[in-house]
Amino acid sequence: MSRSALVTGGNRGIGRRIAGELAAAGDQVAVTYRSGEPPEGLLGVTCDITDTAQVDAAFKRVEEEQGPVEVLVANAGITKDNLLAMMTEDEFSSVLDTNLTGAFRVAKRAARGMIRRRSGRIVLISSVVGLMGSGGQTNYAASKAGLVGFARSLARELGSRGITVNVVAPGFIETDMTAALSEERQAEIKRNVPLGRFGSADEIAKTVRFLTGEDAAYITGAVIPVDGGLGMGH
Ligand code: NDP
Repeated sequence: MSRSALVTGGNRGIGRRIAGELAAAGDQVAVTYRSGEPPEGLLGVTCDITDTAQVDAAFKRVEEEQGPVEVLVANAGITKDNLLAMMTEDEFSSVLDTNLTGAFRVAKRAARGMIRRRSGRIVLISSVVGLMGSGGQTNYAASKAGLVGFARSLARELGSRGITVNVVAPGFIETDMTAALSEERQAEIKRNVPLGRFGSADEIAKTVRFLTGEDAAYITGAVIPVDGGLGMGH
């Protein structure tokens, strides 16, 4: 079964791997991107998710090229770390606007078609940090925790229409985002991860693929940690 899928932030990191995994499973996959290049063979649509008009235009393009979005993965996200005492209001609100309101924008736009067809899969990429908290990341943690309440509310709204809404909460994954951490900080994190290593984008992508598939038909409103045990108990 080839479905129309859209992954935000699919030009690099975890999103790129998710897009590849869904394509390998047989879906027609589009990715949004701002910089770089979309993965070869997949439909790339330029889109800044902080801009509702760009989100709408991206969805229109995907609808024309591969049909209404049946699988949405809201993956695009940013960090702007700072201690609260030093954090500017812009650092706080821009992270919320991208990570949380960005997910709202794309989920709202996707839900339209999904409700009409009475089926759909929405997966939001949160973070272990949204559940555990992390010093220097009040903005990021708030945005990622916000996704959990958002997803669970939406799961209640859309369940009767055959649409599932789930959250994947990655731990520390080898990408540009974690490469930016100092070696000391990376070593400290690994000491706290029961499995003793960072995860791979592949391990996130396979979980997302499962959640979008037939085998996950009865899973909605769930928060699935893929974090080597770092956040267990939350
Ligand atoms: P990267 O920094 O490697 O990639 C981020 C992606 O988001 C890029 O494709 C980027 O596009 C896109 N993006 C950022 N802002 C916008 C925007 N305003 N509009 C459209 N696209 C945007 O991140 P990762 O792959 O590491 O992370 C992906 C997701 O996983 C994020 O939500 C992140 O918070 C989450 N996560 C990551 C973890 C990790 O350890 N790496 C751990 C837990 C969660 P562009 O290239 O154009 O900037």
